[in-house]
Amino acid sequence: MATVETVNGPVAVEDLGPTLMHEHVFVLSTEHVQNYGEGSWWDEEAQVANAVVKLNELAATGIRTIVDPTVWGIGRYIPRIQRVAAQVDLNIIVATGLYQYQELPHQYAYRGPGLTVDVPEPMVTDFTTDIRHGIAGTGVKAAFLKCAIEAYGLTPGVERIARAVARTSVDTGVPITVHTSAPAQTGRLALDVFGKEGVDPTKVVIGHAGDSNDLDYLMELADTGATLGMDRFGLDLFNPTENRVATIVALAERGYADRMVLAHDASCFIDYFGGLHDAARATMPNWNYLHIGNDVLPALRAAGVSEEQINQMLVDNPRRYFS
Ligand SMILES: [Zn+2]
Repeated sequence: MATVETVNGPVAVEDLGPTLMHEHVFVLSTEHVQNYGEGSWWDEEAQVANAVVKLNELAATGIRTIVDPTVWGIGRYIPRIQRVAAQVDLNIIVATGLYQYQELPHQYAYRGPGLTVDVPEPMVTDFTTDIRHGIAGTGVKAAFLKCAIEAYGLTPGVERIARAVARTSVDTGVPITVHTSAPAQTGRLALDVFGKEGVDPTKVVIGHAGDSNDLDYLMELADTGATLGMDRFGLDLFNPTENRVATIVALAERGYADRMVLAHDASCFIDYFGGLHDAARATMPNWNYLHIGNDVLPALRAAGVSEEQINQMLVDNPRRYFS
């Protein structure tokens, strides 16, 4: 039976159960936290304890797995996630990859084929290590790849990252989640560049597709075999819940329930708001792990989405993605 790597080790894909396909535990900049957070708004022990409470609340609703696409660029730090995972009754699947909108980090800019340090693509080397051997000596293996193609499009840096992610996916067989811009419809760019590297679209989640209500765009992506990430429930500034629900209903009616997955893109703490985290989050009351269970699923059912379709989005499609 196929298994998928989680923070606590391999789990049979059949046992993933109801899965939220894009949730962060923490979104942080290590340098921001170390220089401005510590001694101020960041308390490591309190944050780990808070995450344990929030994720156990989520587990109590019947969700069995979260898929956490936190990579370099938004603060992946596996020892902290291991501490949380040891105390929650939930599978946490982690990623490798790189989250950048425009430029490569300097740490990759001078290493690579034909560069100052002429070596094989070091991103492929690093991502593959995370998948095959584990992340930074923790023993935890990444089970999927993450990159971003924002409205800036395929800048040279973003294209190099996307191609490295694609090559690693082809080499290792692990799937990809790509952050995209719905207004700029960069899901197309993602599938195009991945396709040039030989990635099967069925191995790709187009992250944040649910920020769009353009059915033609969404069906075009789904018709390639890719999965639509309807994954920012509660982030009303990008698209209110009512519209997100209406779009899922319309796609389900057209036969696309097998091409959608659900999530909030939430976190227990995100340092974008610094010391004003709690005040900023209070302005987005539905941006939390419980919104889908409390509000979205009832709204989908009321609009005629069947239990079988909900099960596809929460269970069958995540299982297929990791199979
Ligand atoms: Zn995210």
